[in-house]
Amino acid sequence: MEIIKYSEEHNIFRQAVRKFFEKEVIPYVEEWEEAGIVPRSIWKKMGDQGFLCMDVPEKYGGMGADFLYSVIMSEELVRTGHSGLAAALHSDIVVPYITAFASEEIKHKYLPGCVSGDIITAIAMTEPNAGSDLAGMKTTAVGDGDDVVINGQKTFISNGILCDLLILAAKDPSEPDPHRAVNLYVVDAGTPGFEKGRKLKKIGWHSQDTAELFFADCRIPKQNLLGGKGSGFLMLMQKLQQERLMVALGAVPAAERILEMTIKYCRERTAFGRPLSKFQNTQFKLVEMATEIKLGRTFLDKLVMDHIEGKNIVVEVSMAKYWTTEMAMRVADGCLQLHGGYGYCEEYPIARAWRDLRVMQIFAGTNEIMKGIAAKFMGL
Ligand SMILES: Cc1cc2nc3c(=O)[nH]c(=O)nc-3n(C[C@H](O)[C@H](O)[C@H](O)COP(=O)(O)OP(=O)(O)OC[C@H]3O[C@@H](n4cnc5c(N)ncnc54)[C@H](O)[C@@H]3O)c2cc1C
Repeated sequence: MEIIKYSEEHNIFRQAVRKFFEKEVIPYVEEWEEAGIVPRSIWKKMGDQGFLCMDVPEKYGGMGADFLYSVIMSEELVRTGHSGLAAALHSDIVVPYITAFASEEIKHKYLPGCVSGDIITAIAMTEPNAGSDLAGMKTTAVGDGDDVVINGQKTFISNGILCDLLILAAKDPSEPDPHRAVNLYVVDAGTPGFEKGRKLKKIGWHSQDTAELFFADCRIPKQNLLGGKGSGFLMLMQKLQQERLMVALGAVPAAERILEMTIKYCRERTAFGRPLSKFQNTQFKLVEMATEIKLGRTFLDKLVMDHIEGKNIVVEVSMAKYWTTEMAMRVADGCLQLHGGYGYCEEYPIARAWRDLRVMQIFAGTNEIMKGIAAKFMGL
């Protein structure tokens, strides 16, 4: 059952991306994991190939490409088995805030660099004491003449060390309504008062530079406000649909990749004189996982098409984010078990896949928050 109809151009693009990753990413994965960060040069190489922010309109340096190019890019990146290069976060989650809500001046100033890979972006919402409860954030942005002055702290920010530009959520303390108080700003990483802090030590995603960020009397022009004043939450709600879809787009191909390599392993590895794949338990486990993945793939592809058609699928996307990430984790766990002791060893890709997948249930809104959104829409 083919839900997404890729064109010949899409297929050619997929081959080009796959070839690029085979040459420019896969050989360096171990080195980057060891370094705890990816080099800036890979961002530039991607930009040179036209692989970043493909949906940005041509007048700002992009290709104005349809969303299926983002789907292909995300799937191919997952196939590399590497989670540090957060290009999908940059292209399909952060930059769309600029494309959709920034002034013409800001768009012309920053979008060409986002496309070329000269500007790496991040989005900073979470704070040490405000993750799920975003409205509880403490970072403030206070107007002062032609400027806005920012004070506060963010944490868990992906691309936090490499970022040149930030979409920052901050509160106007004079606004009593906690939701209307949240505004989004574009902040240049070179702005005095903006400091990058610690790169966080995580159990997975070792080559992703997740970091703390600090703001002390950081003064930015008030034109850096995105959208209208008081509309920060609305913009987040609008864009979180795509963010959560992108997470599901990471989870399903990851599960597909893990299963593929586990089937190969089970065919090659023998015990009691026959391949593991000949044991009924192995077969049943593999079939159960394959079935779950197919269910996830069908749901995901349908949502991709609905998203392209501009449908409001907030509830379905919340369901997909929670279900596909939990499904991928079940698959990773089941596949690790089928690898036996080797599954627990660093040199086997299943080990990294298992620990890297875990975070998907936490970021972009925890799976509990996803279920809460669905429950609310179901009138519960
Ligand atoms: C590797 C990584 C990368 C990240 N990247 C970014 C980024 O780029 N930008 C960014 O802004 N943030 C980022 N985050 C932060 C992430 O979005 C938050 O960690 C997440 O939203 C949860 O917030 P919290 O950690 O404060 O947990 P809490 O909100 O404290 O939640 C703790 C637990 O309580 C549960 N809980 C909370 N409220 C409810 C409720 N109402 N009902 C039921 N259960 C609830 C949660 O589901 C969770 O299980 C990243 C996090 C990680 C780990």
